Amino acid sequence: MSGLLAVGSRLLAYRSTEYIKDIGTPARWKAVEADWQAGKTRLKESGAYEPAVFLDRDGTLNIEKGHLRRPEDLELLPGVGSALRSLRQAGFRLIVLTNQPVIARGEATESEVAAIHQRLEWELGKEGAYLDAIYICPHHPDRGFPQERPELKTQCDCRKPGTGLFEQACRDLGIDAANSWMVGDQNSDIEMAGRAGLRSVLFRTGGAERDGQFRAAPDLVADDIASAARVITQHRELIAQ
Ligand SMILES: [Zn+2]
Repeated sequence: MSGLLAVGSRLLAYRSTEYIKDIGTPARWKAVEADWQAGKTRLKESGAYEPAVFLDRDGTLNIEKGHLRRPEDLELLPGVGSALRSLRQAGFRLIVLTNQPVIARGEATESEVAAIHQRLEWELGKEGAYLDAIYICPHHPDRGFPQERPELKTQCDCRKPGTGLFEQACRDLGIDAANSWMVGDQNSDIEMAGRAGLRSVLFRTGGAERDGQFRAAPDLVADDIASAARVITQHRELIAQ
């Protein structure tokens, strides 16, 4: 691939949710053969709904460092790659829902936030994990910041605990909300889950006490994403039986 790029070829890529596996070793070939026989390689029916795990960003996927300014400051939390791989393996789509009021406050542009998300996807990719989509709320309700962008200073319905980002993801990706989860470290994540009818996991490590404007109860409290992923996949196995 790098050879093609070196001679100036154009490389195109697209996201796919269909069955794609490397069959470069006898063991992998055998695994794919088993999937074939079990019917797992059939093309997905169009319009088939799939469950998702919706994920908060800071404090859930990457280390919370206040206002993250530079892509190189983004650092994944330990165990995130393998947790996302196991959720994917269990049949969940993985979708980030993040409030980024820094855009409304004029502290970061859309393209700076996009660069941080490229870094996030790159770091996940190195661990063999990937996201289906990242949805951002750029709004903020309170005025009075020196660099603020008045057009984004609105009461929107997408800032969590609003459900706008979740609803957009359901429209875009065909999500089976009844079997989906929200995972986050803030009360606003859990409150959003409650409004959207999602099951939820709250991390003990987060600012849930700090941002206590909402008092929604999570279905589960976990220490880290590895244990959250374990419980979610076990629950899925249970309901599949
Ligand atoms: Zn918004």
